[in-house]
Amino acid sequence: LKGYKLPPGGKVVRKLDKLYEGKAKIVYTTDQPGLLIQYFKDSATAFNGKKKGTIEGKGAANVRISAYLFEILEKAGIKTHYHRLLTEREMLIDRLEMIPLEAIVRNIAAGSLSERLGYEEGRRLKKPIVEFYYKRDDLGDPLLACQHVLELGLVDGVQFQQLRTLSLQVNDVLQPLFAERGLELVDFKLEFGFRDSEIILGDEISPDTCRLWDKKTGERLDKDRFRRDLRRVEEAYQEVLKRLASS
Ligand code: UDP
Repeated sequence: LKGYKLPPGGKVVRKLDKLYEGKAKIVYTTDQPGLLIQYFKDSATAFNGKKKGTIEGKGAANVRISAYLFEILEKAGIKTHYHRLLTEREMLIDRLEMIPLEAIVRNIAAGSLSERLGYEEGRRLKKPIVEFYYKRDDLGDPLLACQHVLELGLVDGVQFQQLRTLSLQVNDVLQPLFAERGLELVDFKLEFGFRDSEIILGDEISPDTCRLWDKKTGERLDKDRFRRDLRRVEEAYQEVLKRLASS
């Protein structure tokens, strides 16, 4: 068993069993109740798993990008599941009861929004839009209206508004942060869960889950390079990490 030192007092947390394996991450239980380890893989999928591949160094870049952004969000008063980095690919997180929704925040039209509204990619929205998609592979992760979310009983009306508010608050922190580093935060995906009965930000925030465009050149520095078979996929993840780290 591998043990990791935990400050303060050098308490050790041990990795136990695989709890869940997704497309880009593995979650393990630990010997500390309420704490899990999230391992970031190099594997990538797109188009509902139809396209598969490996992006060298992606896991190591994403764990650091996510850790950095969660730390900034915590400082801004937004509660996250993040505790600390453990290894080059692992972070210690709170165990949450995940809500099966993807909250998408958009500042600029791209991807499925461009198709839905007939907007050209790159068109700035009047104000940020928050959408919710149902995390159900068998249904193809459909877009949900508020009343669908309530019908499904995933959250109540108050919690639905909290999800919206939290998503916009994350945007208010991240959009200027990326802008200062020459990156346009076009859109991104968040996932939330319950810790006790409180809504907490979970999952990851990385170029796998954000669209980031270079402000000067318009170059895409995110998973769209993989989706669209563009060159220099690995370099895009390293470039985002470099821009965040050099501050
Ligand atoms: N996204 C994600 N996981 C998903 C779907 C979308 O992380 O399962 C992110 C995606 O990377 C982008 C944003 O959410 O930053 C909006 O994606 P969109 O709805 O435009 O879907 P796409 O065009 O990527 O299929």
